[in-house]
Amino acid sequence: MTPVDPLQAPLATLPGVGPTRAAALASAGLRTIEDLLLRFPLRYEDRGNLVPIARLRPGTATVAGEVVDARLKPTRRPRFSVFELTVRDATGEARAVFFNQRFLEQVFRAGQHVVLHGKVEWTSQGAQLASPQYELVDLSAVEEGSSVHTGRTVPVYERIGPLTPKLQRDLVARALERLPEQIADPLPQDVRRARGLPSRREALLDTHFPPAEASLDALNAFRTPAQVRLILEEFVLFQLALAEQRTRVVAIAKPHLVEVTPAIRDLARHVLPFTLTPGQKRALREIVEDLQRPAPMNRLLQGDVGSGKTIVAVLAAVVAMANDLQVVLMAPTELLAEQHARTVAARLAGTPFRSVLLTGSQRSRLRRDALGQIASGAAHFVVGTHAVLEDPALFRRLGLVIIDEQHRFGVGQRARLRGKGRQPDVLVMTATPIPRTLTLTAYGDLDVSVIADLPPGRRPVQTTARPEVRRDEAYAFVREQVAEGRQAYVVLPIIEDSEKVDVRAAVSMVETLRAGALAGLRLGLLHGRLGPTEKLDVMQAFVAGDLDVLVTTTVIEVGVDVPNASVMVVEHAERFGLAQLHQLRGRVGRGAAQSFCILLFERPLSDEARLRLAAMTDTTDGFVIAERDLAIRGPGDMFGTRQAGMPTLRIGDLRRDHELMADAHALARELAARLPAEALPRRLAREAWAGRFNLAGVG
Ligand code: ADP
Ligand code: MG
Repeated sequence: MTPVDPLQAPLATLPGVGPTRAAALASAGLRTIEDLLLRFPLRYEDRGNLVPIARLRPGTATVAGEVVDARLKPTRRPRFSVFELTVRDATGEARAVFFNQRFLEQVFRAGQHVVLHGKVEWTSQGAQLASPQYELVDLSAVEEGSSVHTGRTVPVYERIGPLTPKLQRDLVARALERLPEQIADPLPQDVRRARGLPSRREALLDTHFPPAEASLDALNAFRTPAQVRLILEEFVLFQLALAEQRTRVVAIAKPHLVEVTPAIRDLARHVLPFTLTPGQKRALREIVEDLQRPAPMNRLLQGDVGSGKTIVAVLAAVVAMANDLQVVLMAPTELLAEQHARTVAARLAGTPFRSVLLTGSQRSRLRRDALGQIASGAAHFVVGTHAVLEDPALFRRLGLVIIDEQHRFGVGQRARLRGKGRQPDVLVMTATPIPRTLTLTAYGDLDVSVIADLPPGRRPVQTTARPEVRRDEAYAFVREQVAEGRQAYVVLPIIEDSEKVDVRAAVSMVETLRAGALAGLRLGLLHGRLGPTEKLDVMQAFVAGDLDVLVTTTVIEVGVDVPNASVMVVEHAERFGLAQLHQLRGRVGRGAAQSFCILLFERPLSDEARLRLAAMTDTTDGFVIAERDLAIRGPGDMFGTRQAGMPTLRIGDLRRDHELMADAHALARELAARLPAEALPRRLAREAWAGRFNLAGVG
């Protein structure tokens, strides 16, 4: 029998927690003692420095005293109420006012003892606290100067239904009192010592009831050693689960062996239309080394828009195909799949390898043909959308899977992909501007190659933000560029992620441009409601230079590559997200000519929109953009859905704590290598995360 872990005891075992409170706690996800203790306070309040009322000065202060009077004051305005509280201590009296909180009539009564914390204002009647935080306390405790609720820095918890912050503080204090002398610690001692972090027990105590010397600022920034230790613990367990997933993959032997012979090198050189940048070379070397290993590759290729990831993938594919393996390149949209299919076919023209396109909307005969070629092995390189992977059995000998521009492919999906078929090598390519620390979160199970440079001759896109009253100027500039033989994009603020693409709005905007600002130019319109062949026709006309201007919705966002396009006008740029604007802008600046991006915005601008536009005009560096985006939006939103592989954390906050993730990542890989599988941290990591990744049974 395993000894019962006291931290796992249900909260109902705490004195003071009956069925009603237990249910309320459960509604907030708190079931065990550990759940309660691993919930951080919202903030901390310094009640160690109670200010005598006579010495109140404007600023922020905490006072304690007895309620002398509590009443709702009449006002002239209907639906507006002022509740006034008068409090006395040994030195004097002060008032506190609360607006539109009639229910306080039920809360306060003369004779009660309260602690008030908030902003002190000076009025003709003396000191006044405006809408302070309040808490009813036990006076004897105040006088003794030390307790759970006053005389010290206290934690303030988020209210849970009927459970006030004060009641929760009592519960936490009781739970901590009963904490055994020894509790298991998933962070090994040497790891803690190296970072100056306390044991788990100490960290729990100090997080909820900080020692007198703890700085209030550090506490409220969640940066005391105790808090950091608990956050790091959560991150390490998460990263350990990812590391386990990686270890499992590394232990697999691929059914095929990849070799790189001089003949294969020649073939690759033949495919290459230009010299690789140093960054591309390094990434390719890392990938090809992976291909030659006995275990399947699981690698992320990260590089800003335009850094040239495609050719790196195609060269890796040549190595795989020369080893008699099939390759699939998966794109997030049909448009991008079609474009990749063209690039790949062009590159493979002088080689023995054949490529096919496979998409969901293909006509059935085309699709049947493609499927036949894939099954027979006549097609070596398959370019397609997600549909391709629904049935990996359709390949004769699948060896390499390349997932392009994919930020919607989480850990679980990658694991499932691995579960089917032949243990292919997997390369995920992304230009998603996300900070490195978040890459480690969403893709922590992958090895990472980064292309940090751009192909030679690229000049940063000159970006300006203009109010829409200057639209005419923007389009006059487009005409100039077209007169010089260049092409342009006009992006419309019609978001394609919903079912309702407003085609009429798009069509009427094109008509307006055609009749006015862009009269005489050759305009094409691209939107999500066009059929696949229509889309392809428009795109091909633009690539061939038969269109001067491509008016488009956000379907164009990812990956499209037309180097002659040198200017982009974004209508209603204030409506787009920062990552999206960066992706859009990546469509220009792909050739040697100077490119331009004009962001037209409508006033009034929200603060966030202003920050986004400023980030765009300040920099073209995707990683800088990513950091700014994180600061503006927070990490949850950067990925959209949970599916993206972002963990749901209970202590850590990715916006606040993401720097700790890099340490956790390195640490987890080290622990996974040195600790046996049944060691506590590895076991906890599996229990906590494996289910959430959907990893059960896949490996
Ligand atoms: P992304 O990384 O955004 O997917 P692409 O692979 O589409 O970028 O490459 C962007 C453009 O740069 C393409 O037109 C490609 O042909 C070109 N390119 C890539 N690598 C080089 C290089 N080393 N030298 C010159 N042009 C390059
Ligand atoms: Mg690309």
